[in-house]
Amino acid sequence: MCEMVIQTLRQVVARELPDDKVMELDAMDHFPEDIIRKLLSPDVGLHLIFLPEEFGGLGGGARDICKVSEEMASHDLGVATAFLAICLGTDPILVGGTPEQKSKWLTRIATEGLIVAYGVTEPEAGSDVASLKATADRILDADGNVTGYRLNGTKQFITNGGVAQIYTILARTPDGLSFFVVERGTDGLSVGKHEEKHGIRASNTTGVLMEDMDLPAENLIGLDEGQGLKQANAVFGYTRLMVGAFGLGGGQGPLNRALAYAKTREQFGAPLVEKQGYLLKLIVENWIDLAAGRAHMEQVAMQLDEGATDLGTEGSIAKLWGTEAGNRAADASIQALGGYGYAKEYVVEKMRRDVRITSIYEGTSEIQQSIISLYRWKESVRSKGGFYENLAVDMDRLHEAEPEVGAAMIAAAFRGLNDVVMHMHKARLTRNQIVMFTFADMMTVCEVAGAFAHKAGRLHEQGDPQGEIFTAMSRVFARKAVRIVSEGAGLCAGGWTAEQDPEALTTAEIMLKGVMVRFPVAMTAGLWPDMVLVGAYLKSKS
Ligand SMILES: Cc1cc2nc3c(=O)[nH]c(=O)nc-3n(C[C@H](O)[C@H](O)[C@H](O)COP(=O)(O)OP(=O)(O)OC[C@H]3O[C@@H](n4cnc5c(N)ncnc54)[C@H](O)[C@@H]3O)c2cc1C
Repeated sequence: MCEMVIQTLRQVVARELPDDKVMELDAMDHFPEDIIRKLLSPDVGLHLIFLPEEFGGLGGGARDICKVSEEMASHDLGVATAFLAICLGTDPILVGGTPEQKSKWLTRIATEGLIVAYGVTEPEAGSDVASLKATADRILDADGNVTGYRLNGTKQFITNGGVAQIYTILARTPDGLSFFVVERGTDGLSVGKHEEKHGIRASNTTGVLMEDMDLPAENLIGLDEGQGLKQANAVFGYTRLMVGAFGLGGGQGPLNRALAYAKTREQFGAPLVEKQGYLLKLIVENWIDLAAGRAHMEQVAMQLDEGATDLGTEGSIAKLWGTEAGNRAADASIQALGGYGYAKEYVVEKMRRDVRITSIYEGTSEIQQSIISLYRWKESVRSKGGFYENLAVDMDRLHEAEPEVGAAMIAAAFRGLNDVVMHMHKARLTRNQIVMFTFADMMTVCEVAGAFAHKAGRLHEQGDPQGEIFTAMSRVFARKAVRIVSEGAGLCAGGWTAEQDPEALTTAEIMLKGVMVRFPVAMTAGLWPDMVLVGAYLKSKS
């Protein structure tokens, strides 16, 4: 099903969004409503992938949504963002609606191809959603029964804000935050300022204003006040993965162009792709980072599709890695094209501007770092280090079965990470946000490396033609896990000062030596040869 949707998407994109059209939309800061309508039409029905079959959708799973998201983002992240907002806006109904509400709204979204917007952010409530000020006061009848709600407030940066037919709006009811469904044309609802943006200029972003906007009580999602934050968090489980996929696609799109360019551009008598440093620094490292992020995302999506819940931290890791790696890849792609990368004509410049948003919306990178470090630190302490030791043991087993994927290095990295987390906890230095952010970076790379090694091992075991190259890529990434834990340990050790604790330097030294001894040079040797191998593969790739 997913392959069919992707094929249709490719055909429509090739027809409707060639490079010159994409650049025109960017220059004009124009939302292509006609193209979005075609994508939502019964012929294409792209939105159907995330709607359940019982309401007229295709019932796609997380894996399907991630693949389609990455594909869309590799073409145009502005158009992809319009879809993200439809998915986001629909999700509160999907996760929190009553059966009647689901049947009414989801069926309409599926069959009428409605554009939806998700209204949470406010001028003074961005990352801190719980502080939002929009109010939804009860409207009572003569007997004191709630017949409706009166909404007042301002929403900021709402994707599809100026073009949506349906909005899901989060506002403060007497019993807490609650989502409401609002139809375009409702009295009191108006569109605010259109934002002129750095990138994704083909997406429509506006304020949404509510002035004495009355809604019937039946528009309260779930018909129960105070469920909004729970619903918003449930939504994040999927959408953060989706934005992680945007990061991967938004980085892979320009990187594909950079690789193609490097094969034809000659300097100093040879194509750029033949320059070893250029190839390894600008193309190979980023290619591997994106491939690793994809493996991790596939793993999380599969767990979601198998019914796993409580994968919020995994979703944050997927978002943090996918979007940061996508940003780095797009930036390196400009560098790979030199002056032409900086010129608009080659599109890479626009793609780099576009992907920048992915580490901001749906929870910034710093918010993801906070979530990852907080939950993993708590879990590590609760399990007395058992959480990461279990992942290390999993890597020991993988190493026995598939010794070529670098799992022994990842096992050592997990154990080194564990040492740092437990030492810092004991020293009560986890109160420092910089320590927690460093934890998050180490945890992210180690967990992504684990997923990548499993994928490489699987492909190798199955005799897949990609098996050899994936094992080489996994070894390169495993060394990244070792490197980040070494660096992170050094940074964390910098938190001890002799003034606070006379034994400080000794304690820091014990921690550092303990971590470093896990990483003998012989274990991590061979980095460049593996990267050269991957480079040779990319050079031969048509
Ligand atoms: C193009 C675009 C489309 C968007 N679409 C939508 C949409 O459809 N619906 C919607 O509801 N919202 C949307 N948003 C809003 C988006 O989700 C927010 O911009 C984002 O969550 C960040 O909030 P903020 O901009 O207020 O930044 P702030 O929360 O003010 O953050 C500013 C900086 O401070 C950092 N920071 C914040 N808190 C902490 C902390 N505790 N510790 C350390 N650092 C911190 C952040 O990481 C960031 O670097 C969109 C935004 C943009 C730009």
